[in-house]
Amino acid sequence: MSVFDHVEFDGHEQVAFFKDKKTGLQAIIAVHNTNLGPSLGGCRMWPYANSADALNDVLRLSKGMTYKAAMAQLKLGGGKAVIIGDPRKHKSPELMAAMGRFVEQMGGRYITAEDSGIAVSDIQLMAANTKHVSGIQAKYRFDGGKADGNPAPSTAYGVFKGLEASVKYALGTDLQGVKVAVQGMGHVGYRLADHLHQQGAQLYVTDIYPDNVNEAVEKFGAIAVEPDEIFDLDVDVYAPCAMGASVNQQTLERLKVKVIAGAANNQLAQESIGELVRKKGILYAPDYVINAGGVIDIYHQRMLSTAEAMRSHIEGIADTLTEIYQRSDSEQQPTNVISNQIAEERFLTK
Ligand code: NAD
Repeated sequence: MSVFDHVEFDGHEQVAFFKDKKTGLQAIIAVHNTNLGPSLGGCRMWPYANSADALNDVLRLSKGMTYKAAMAQLKLGGGKAVIIGDPRKHKSPELMAAMGRFVEQMGGRYITAEDSGIAVSDIQLMAANTKHVSGIQAKYRFDGGKADGNPAPSTAYGVFKGLEASVKYALGTDLQGVKVAVQGMGHVGYRLADHLHQQGAQLYVTDIYPDNVNEAVEKFGAIAVEPDEIFDLDVDVYAPCAMGASVNQQTLERLKVKVIAGAANNQLAQESIGELVRKKGILYAPDYVINAGGVIDIYHQRMLSTAEAMRSHIEGIADTLTEIYQRSDSEQQPTNVISNQIAEERFLTK
């Protein structure tokens, strides 16, 4: 299939393919849109079955970054990189250095960061050959604590503020006594549970591994449930913080909640699920809006800023969501559609 006719090509400005004979590096960088600024997005390393799968992934992810940056009011565009290979078998310092050369060849139109299969140490190896990297010089933490470059605390704080605003909009209350089911007690989900507990929410938590679940039970008084039980609970909020596509036709039939607000990327199995969610009277916080705390964090690390400025920028997620909800109500359109429209108004008309 030609790249230009690819179903996910959708207005990409540039797609670059790179093959380095010496190290065996095969990588693709996709720059979706740079109207608002240079494109930023993580570099993923994955054992794709073929280059078509890798192309599909990089195009889809880079487009998502354009929408995320636009909704977070960042002077950044959307881009992404993928390395074809198994990070446990094919990683080497030379391979990462070659990837750094590839990033450098983009001339600053693409700024890389960590993603699945790529650690901060890999970005440091790339940085030997390019200055267009992020996530390796953390200076600020939204709560004034010592910055370590992990964006998860900022992501969790943004999801917490967004969830709080969503509950206020849908139920007209604060979080005291509100029942929240959190799927996934990982880097973000566990920290989200901590914030929610501090505001008096009643937590139901699940994970496929027990460690953090047990800790949440002990520390936050959470009720542990089996992974599949999470969709059947009689609760107010479902907070997906594990993998994508957990909101689909089957799970939607089971969910009794009034709000869906969580950190996971690509929560809706298809965009069309958004309308079914709306018709069921559930308020859905568009994933790339509510989970933007991490990219806001990276943005502030790249410029002269302060912990307070970063914190207030992350807290702005709540206002953005409220604006989406109001427009969704007045136009009788699903929140994911409204969010896409607002993002496009920002980056296409620039
Ligand atoms: P993580 O890998 O630390 O946590 C995910 C957790 O979900 C793990 O503990 C895993 O065991 C659990 N899990 C997987 N499948 C499950 C299932 N079926 N049922 C219950 N639990 C399951 O990842 P994270 O960094 O916490 O990110 C969580 C989600 O948020 C991901 O979708 C990620 O893409 C998204 N996200 C993360 C960030 C960030 O800053 N880390 C930023 C934006 C979006």
